[in-house]
Amino acid sequence: MRAVDEGLASCHTCGRVESASHHRCGRCGAALHVRKEASLQRCLAFGFAGILAYIPANVMPIMIVNQLGIEQANTILGGVFTFWRMHAYPVAITIFIASVLIPGLKFVSLGLLCAAAAGKLRLEGRLANTMYYLTELVGRWSMVDVFVVVILAGVIQLGNLMTIQPGGASLAFGLMVILTMLSAHAFDPRLIWDRLNKEPI
Ligand SMILES: [Zn+2]
Repeated sequence: MRAVDEGLASCHTCGRVESASHHRCGRCGAALHVRKEASLQRCLAFGFAGILAYIPANVMPIMIVNQLGIEQANTILGGVFTFWRMHAYPVAITIFIASVLIPGLKFVSLGLLCAAAAGKLRLEGRLANTMYYLTELVGRWSMVDVFVVVILAGVIQLGNLMTIQPGGASLAFGLMVILTMLSAHAFDPRLIWDRLNKEPI
């Protein structure tokens, strides 16, 4: 037996369980709903917007270094190759994982979760849970290179000797991280349990 079958919903704010027909929590007044409204649509809309921002984030320069009057623009992947050629393998690998691999995997994971919740794909419950948990977890740690560029731009201002400016990609990258976080937040993981309940594996 599930609470939802009895028409009960739990409050997201205070945890009180009461009849979903009340629409508002009797204790704290927060909105009460059994499932997030239009969860899949919002998750997919934010996800696609995030993919659109992922393109300029990788194509445009993330950092413009001006050293003794010579301007050099670096894309994220360009930076990875530069560090690789300098034999700074841990730095190159870290940048590649944090800025290219993880955002890409996040889009794939959210896409698979949406497909599973919509019944287009059969996903084992425990696997779906782990995927959702990891997607939520990495969200707040994805801004690393935006922070690095912002700190470098703030610290390295040596006039004609050397200046560092953030490029267009840093804005696009920040936007992409925020959009994927909104996408993961819009997704209601309970939809997967609903699907598993309907067609148990
Ligand atoms: Zn409440």
